[in-house]
Amino acid sequence: MKKYLMDWKEVYERLNKIPNRTCYGIPRGGAIVAGLTGNAVDSPEKAEILVDDIIDSGKTAEVFSKKYNKPVYVLITKEETSDWIVFPWEESGEIDIQSHIVRVLEYIGEDPNREGLKDTPKRMVKSWEKLFGGYDKDPVEILKRTFGSEKYDEMVFLKDIEFYSTCEHHFLPFFGRITIAYIPKNTVVGISKLARLVEIFARRLQIQERLTTQIADTMNLVLQPLGVGVYCEAQHFCMTSRGVEKQNSKMITNCLFGVIKEDARAREEFMSLVRK
Ligand code: ZN
Repeated sequence: MKKYLMDWKEVYERLNKIPNRTCYGIPRGGAIVAGLTGNAVDSPEKAEILVDDIIDSGKTAEVFSKKYNKPVYVLITKEETSDWIVFPWEESGEIDIQSHIVRVLEYIGEDPNREGLKDTPKRMVKSWEKLFGGYDKDPVEILKRTFGSEKYDEMVFLKDIEFYSTCEHHFLPFFGRITIAYIPKNTVVGISKLARLVEIFARRLQIQERLTTQIADTMNLVLQPLGVGVYCEAQHFCMTSRGVEKQNSKMITNCLFGVIKEDARAREEFMSLVRK
């Protein structure tokens, strides 16, 4: 759909056509307009006029106008344009952040307008939905859906869960494999849940140590098992691609709780399964 982008200059010009009277803004767009007039009041009863951002289907404005028997003034009507109207306060964060990426491209010496780069800011922002998609998901909720009464008290082991994460120090990827083990006490969890747990913590800005401990902590907290072991090995772009030249080196982190930490046999079982 074609967009009609209204800028602030136009908003103020249009605001001047609204009578200088106390006004109530019809939710939600109207509330912004009312605020901009400087004459906003808290209720339609107290207002001399009603304001809205746009007469769309007209329905809401009509209902308000009839109910309170007051005239409605709008910034723009649908009769003025058939395009999709975007007010400046509706400018999406996406567009805004893309302009910052354009600046970054310029900073590194690129021409953001050349063919290959034209859509790069948009693609980058889009890719973040996946790369940083772990923030709005709750790891505890994922693990809470457990199978309660299963009788199983041997070590449960999920090996080599692939992950991709982003180093918070350099905003560069690190990736590798995570192995999770636990010894259930009362609750057994579906293995797909463990993979999702890894995904939630990995899809954030991270350091490997915290990624490892957050997974183990959450397992420990929610499942309250007899023991937990999390093993992580990863390659970091900030190491392999920047001068340190340790191209094949892997970083290894562990986090152990309960019997897997304290009992030598359980610990050895965990480590030998990791090494297999
Ligand atoms: Zn780094």
